[in-house]
Amino acid sequence: MSLLVVGSVALDSVKTPFGEATDVLGGSGTYFSVAAGFFNRVNLVAVVGNDFPGEHLELLKGHDIDLAGLKTQPGKTFRWKGEYGFQLNEAKTLETHLNVFESFRPELPDAFRTPNLVFLANIDPELQLEVLHQVKRPRLVACDTMNFWIEGKREALIRTLREVDVVIINDGEARELAGEANLVKAARNILDLGPKTLIIKRGEYGVLMFSGGTVFSAPAFPLESVFDPTGAGDSFAGGFMGYLARQGLHEESLRCPPVTGLPFDEAVIRRAVIIGSVMASFNVESFSLDRMKTLTFEEIQARYKEFQQMTSFEDLLH
Ligand code: AMP
Repeated sequence: MSLLVVGSVALDSVKTPFGEATDVLGGSGTYFSVAAGFFNRVNLVAVVGNDFPGEHLELLKGHDIDLAGLKTQPGKTFRWKGEYGFQLNEAKTLETHLNVFESFRPELPDAFRTPNLVFLANIDPELQLEVLHQVKRPRLVACDTMNFWIEGKREALIRTLREVDVVIINDGEARELAGEANLVKAARNILDLGPKTLIIKRGEYGVLMFSGGTVFSAPAFPLESVFDPTGAGDSFAGGFMGYLARQGLHEESLRCPPVTGLPFDEAVIRRAVIIGSVMASFNVESFSLDRMKTLTFEEIQARYKEFQQMTSFEDLLH
């Protein structure tokens, strides 16, 4: 199935308790596309400046990513600088320079205008909407966002949320967006804004998926070395959407949508959540996309199996 993403392609500077990296490849669209590219071809819509290194373009092309929608504009590439303490769950943003994103107006190539699945990665919600309004009848639209936009572009973000099926955000963002400290209540408030499903990423504590009155909970993979959490959320979303795109639609969904209201069987959606968790767990093992560069499909399958063993238990007999 065709999968479209709009998001940031960035040069990140990141400091963690284990080291630092300057002007390395990053961005929500980048992490998403590379993770999704293990499962399905990805059509990426984004912009970079003329300072963007050619080697990064080669890396993207090598991961089944179509770059026809990646514009190069005069000026500097988007830059983000962040820092993590020993509590690696949340990044502290030190600097955000939108640069070429400030004047970017996405215009989709014709071949990108009829996607089956769309992911609006973390980016200005106005741009998310501009992309959404250029596509015809996608079967599933998902989105991410962050505090920068919840605080700075709340109205546009609420308009985006009205038009998406699945929201994938972290726990801090869910609380801030809903204005509610309790996650279960926050989830209800966010679902009231329009989406059918909400996936809340909780860093090392895993994810919670709220959908059609049900909750699905998945742990994070217990890793011995977490090096850099940057991009974990986008890699999760990439694994999730890439896997759905690979699986195809629920055949009956046009006549009889499953209880989740999404055009996929619930079992497929649950497997997609685990694949998302698998991709996030690999990503945090090194800076930037370094781990993704060497990752193989066999390693993904093996870690999926470990997840299965880690979480399976029998019925209570007595
Ligand atoms: P994650 O750790 O998955 O939440 O996403 C990290 C990525 O988001 C980094 O590679 C940044 O380049 C990118 N990012 C940070 N702030 C923004 C922003 N305001 N808009 C778009 N992308 C951003």
